[in-house]
Amino acid sequence: MTAFWTEPDFDDHEQVLFVRDAASGLTALIAIHSTHLGPAAGGTRFWHYADPAAGMRDALRLSRGMSYKNAMAGLPAGGGKAVILADAARTKTPELLAAFARAVDGLGGKYITAQDVGMSEADMVSLSQHTAHVAGLPGQGGDPGPYTARGVYLGVKAAAQRALGTSDMKGVRVAIQGVGSVGGGLARYLAADGADLILADMDHARAIALADELGGRAVAKEEILSFEADIVSPCALGAILTEQSIATLRTRVVAGGANNQLATGSEGRLLQDRGILYAPDYVINAGGIINVLRHIDGAGDDEINARIDRIPDRLEAVWQESEATGATPDSVADRMAQKLIGR
Ligand code: NAD
Repeated sequence: MTAFWTEPDFDDHEQVLFVRDAASGLTALIAIHSTHLGPAAGGTRFWHYADPAAGMRDALRLSRGMSYKNAMAGLPAGGGKAVILADAARTKTPELLAAFARAVDGLGGKYITAQDVGMSEADMVSLSQHTAHVAGLPGQGGDPGPYTARGVYLGVKAAAQRALGTSDMKGVRVAIQGVGSVGGGLARYLAADGADLILADMDHARAIALADELGGRAVAKEEILSFEADIVSPCALGAILTEQSIATLRTRVVAGGANNQLATGSEGRLLQDRGILYAPDYVINAGGIINVLRHIDGAGDDEINARIDRIPDRLEAVWQESEATGATPDSVADRMAQKLIGR
């Protein structure tokens, strides 16, 4: 058996805490990738993994991702992530959440948690009864979706400027995959600019309703990525950019809010070979975390907005270096982030 810390996903994590509380049935991992820029911040995911090793890999990858994301967002925060390994029935009790919160608390502020997949706002409130190290509670910034949507919108416009030579979105066709909190918010901004919207959602009725409201077109979810469009904006799932899906793209730009869009991490090269401009996901979708972590340095609304306004500049810096060096935008972003966290 290889040692845990020689796993590629381990990538020099500063600390990985395995938490077990037999009484409540809690099994969790808290992965702290870097505290170079500040406390390791990142959400808690509550998920049932058929294979616990997959949960561990998820925690490690997501934690490193948070290091990069927080660094590229200019936040005084490092990166971490927690995964609670749910049972098949996804049993979530107050005792289990309390045991998890005590583990977070035991880290003394080195890890700050927030909401992620499988955790509700109410769950975060119950964690906060046992530890102060919870970000994004109600009344402290609220739903990150609208902030993410605004950052993605600004990033989409920056991508349009670079790839299409205009940031005027009037008549620019944008195909949005997933019209939930982020994709729906993005659609509203773009509709106000007169963009030609093509929308798809797993919940087809939702896409139809939004298209009716905003004056776009709803298409089947199977069609959206290969729909002919100036810009494709993935705002639903991760891992949607595969060798196969990239071959079917009919667009100049991929710029959207979904996390981990590159299926294996190496697809940036395929996009570049096809002349498609890619906005690295964790750079363009940082608006939410910028808002969630506002209490870390007490940033007010103006500062939060200013930080989100800087997302296009960061993307432009990535694209310029990519153009100058031939490296793909995702690898340029990773290198910039690594430098920022002292690696
Ligand atoms: P959401 O649940 O509000 O919306 C996601 C939408 O995508 C839903 O309407 C869902 O029906 C749809 N969907 C799911 N699978 C689909 C598929 N195969 N095809 C088409 N539509 C599909 O989630 P959200 O908060 O808008 O987040 C969307 C993405 O952005 C996720 O990848 C999330 O990790 C990422 N993200 C969100 C935030 C945030 O602040 N909410 C921040 C950073 C990244």
